[in-house]
Amino acid sequence: MSSTSVQISSAQIRETIKLFRKAGLRECVLLWLGRREQGIQHIVEVYKPLQNTSIDYFEIPRNGMAALDRLRTQALYVVSQIHTHPLEAFHSSADDKWAIVRHVGALSIVLPNFAKSTTLKNFLREAAVYQLDDANSWNAVSSEQMADHLRITK
Ligand SMILES: [Zn+2]
Repeated sequence: MSSTSVQISSAQIRETIKLFRKAGLRECVLLWLGRREQGIQHIVEVYKPLQNTSIDYFEIPRNGMAALDRLRTQALYVVSQIHTHPLEAFHSSADDKWAIVRHVGALSIVLPNFAKSTTLKNFLREAAVYQLDDANSWNAVSSEQMADHLRITK
């Protein structure tokens, strides 16, 4: 695995899918919080920030970001963001521009169909995964590269 890889448990993937389903027919954004240990970004919490959403839009208001100040005292950071789209999963130009995660190696993940068809089993196939490089560009992670970037543990 590369030094920028993200590791998340099956239970946290299930929690992610559950929260998206609960959001209904609206976009929803979740933040995967974690810490870096031995070069791997371990997810420790799936967090739903305060957000304004519609069928094809989400925004985290200023007080939603302010709530993240607690992360510093808990030695956590936003490892990855993940959000749903009504139809196809891709990184829109708004997604590029308004991404909350900004560190090199950050992942931004998009799920199609409001995650209605996403399961633990098909998660890595359904998810469109993008990684931020040191030139501040979001690059799609191909299925061949996936294991180096995102791993789901038991
Ligand atoms: Zn989007």
